[in-house]
Amino acid sequence: GEPADILELRGVHAAYGRITVLHGVDVAVRPGRVVALLGPNGAGKTTTLRVAAGAHPVHAGRLVLGGRDATGADPRDLARAGVCLIPEGRGVFPNLSVRDNLLMMTFTGRRREEIEEIAYARFPILGQRRSQAAGTLSGGEQQMLALARALTTDPAVLLLDELSMGLAPLVVARLYELVAEIAAQGVAVLVVEQFASAVLGIADHAAVLVRGRIAWQGSPEGGLRDELSALYMGST
Ligand code: ATP
Repeated sequence: GEPADILELRGVHAAYGRITVLHGVDVAVRPGRVVALLGPNGAGKTTTLRVAAGAHPVHAGRLVLGGRDATGADPRDLARAGVCLIPEGRGVFPNLSVRDNLLMMTFTGRRREEIEEIAYARFPILGQRRSQAAGTLSGGEQQMLALARALTTDPAVLLLDELSMGLAPLVVARLYELVAEIAAQGVAVLVVEQFASAVLGIADHAAVLVRGRIAWQGSPEGGLRDELSALYMGST
C-alpha cells in the first residue's frame, strides 16, 4: 500500500529573534516520493528545510520523524536517523579534491573504498575527476558531488535547497533525473526551488510557500502553474 509519511512538519512556526517567518507550515514526505516546495524569495523555504533537519528551532508546532515526535531533537540525532540536508551552495569544500571531499564521509563508518565506489558508480564523472579540486568542477558536477556525499550516509530523507541555482536548464534536468532515481530507491525527497522548474517533472506533490504560509498544495498537474503565476504576481 501507500508508504507512511517519514518526515512531517505539523503547524510549524519558526522565527529569527522576534520575527516570525513560518506561520504554521504543514509539509510531509514519504519514502520513494518527491515533494517540491516552491515559493518566492524570502518566503521561508530555506527555514523550512532547516527546521526539517533540526537545524532551526520550532517555535510552535511539531516535527515528526517516523511517526515519533522529534521536535527539538538535536540535528546530529536527525542526521543519524537519516535526515540529510544539502544546503544552497552545495556545501562542498572547493580546495579539496573530489576524492578528499568524499573521504570526509568515513565518519559514517563506511570504508574509503566503499565510499568511492558508491559515489563513482552513480556519478562516473566524479571518478574521472577524482584528483581535481572540487572548486574547479562545473556547477552541475559540484551538485553531483554533494549528492554523492549525501548518498554515502544512506539517507532516508534528502532535503535539497535550490539544486538548480546557477545551472543551465539541461544540467538541472539531468540532475533531477538522478534525484528521481535516488527517490525510486526508497528515499523521501523534499526539494526547495524558487521557480517552477524541472523539479515539477519528477515531483509527486507540490506545495507553495508564500510569506511563511502554505498557500497551496496538491498534485503538480492540478492547476499549480495558474496558482503560481497568481501568487507570484500577488507577492511582488
Ligand atoms: P530565498 O530563496 O531568498 O533563500 P527562502 O524562501 O529560502 O528565500 P528563508 O531564507 O527561509 O526564505 O527566509 C525567510 C525569511 O527569514 C526572510 O524574510 C529572511 O529575510 C528571514 N531570515 C532568513 N535568515 C535570517 C537570519 N539569519 N536572521 C534574520 N532573518 C532571517
